[in-house]
Amino acid sequence: MTSPQTLPPGSTIGILGGGQLGRMTALAAARLGYRCVVYAPEEHSIAGDVAAGNVSGAYDDKAALARFANQVDVITYEFENVPEAAVTQCQKHKPVRPGVKPIHVAQHRLREKEFFKALGIGTADYQPIRSEAEIAAASAFPGILKTCSEGYDGKGQVRVADRAALAAAWQKLGRRECILEALVDFLCEISVIVARDLDGTTRYFPIGLNDHRDGILRTTTVPSGLPAGTLAAAERFGTDLADGLELVGLVALEMFVTRDGRVLANEMAPRPHNSGHWTIDACATSQFEQLVRAICGLPLGPVDVLAPSHMLNLIGEEANDWPRYLADPAARLHLYGKATPRPGRKMGHVTFIKSPS
Ligand code: AMP
Repeated sequence: MTSPQTLPPGSTIGILGGGQLGRMTALAAARLGYRCVVYAPEEHSIAGDVAAGNVSGAYDDKAALARFANQVDVITYEFENVPEAAVTQCQKHKPVRPGVKPIHVAQHRLREKEFFKALGIGTADYQPIRSEAEIAAASAFPGILKTCSEGYDGKGQVRVADRAALAAAWQKLGRRECILEALVDFLCEISVIVARDLDGTTRYFPIGLNDHRDGILRTTTVPSGLPAGTLAAAERFGTDLADGLELVGLVALEMFVTRDGRVLANEMAPRPHNSGHWTIDACATSQFEQLVRAICGLPLGPVDVLAPSHMLNLIGEEANDWPRYLADPAARLHLYGKATPRPGRKMGHVTFIKSPS
């Protein structure tokens, strides 16, 4: 069951980042008897609220990162935009899982697409946009121009119908390094979350059907109801990606299913993912527990679906509806403890469970 590399319950996990993913990881870790220490720039974080310890410091503060690393046995990160240098710095002290490579790839959309391509993972047509010459040569219309770095939840993206619109959009995005992706006429969006352990064993969660609004995930439904062939292609992409990244931990791969049944990868995140929140209430092992198991060298947990589920994100003021969800016997309410409900801010989620009849 265990190997010399196993970090047994009672060990301490360091989490870079103080958001809801870190919070839910710390809660899952606590359930298995682990302690967590959260590193975040802010003095007070919602992950830190439920952790055994906190270190606050900037991501380039080497002394603070060392202080953090010295308190823990293994380090993970809860968002992929944690500066690569901070992860490299932590690695000098303690093992970081999933490691540097996954964030190096995930932090740059062009690098990410090239990585997919090298692994045989299908994507929409894309072209780098870094100069007037590349605009002149562009042909992926209609398309979406995206900044290569620091864009998420639909930020840093402009739809472009033609070359003139592309030129204007590139100016608007500050002439930064961008990628033009052909607009996919998709039937639906799906994601697979794959865990990979220290021995390189992989296990994927059942695929969720995702609905986005304004670039932000709105709902995830499991089971997806998609044909077995589509699911198999998506599962293979996810597993090949986890192996290709050689990661220990989790990776989520978001994909489009086209009207003619092809699966195309959109983007990946080497961490727990919003589309996997349903696993807390409706899967034999939650994605957060699976992350803890993988990085601590425990055997990966079973991923059986316990009940059909539908996860709804509570965004901004929607979280004020919590009494309604508490009163609903089918609803499992999760609030993240964020003080101010700004528009577009993920405040919590609800998983609706359909009782097996
Ligand atoms: P992203 O930030 O790349 O995950 O994009 C956010 C959302 O925008 C996706 O979930 C899709 O709904 C939509 N989107 C992004 N890229 C494309 C594309 N190439 N074609 C069609 N829709 C897209």
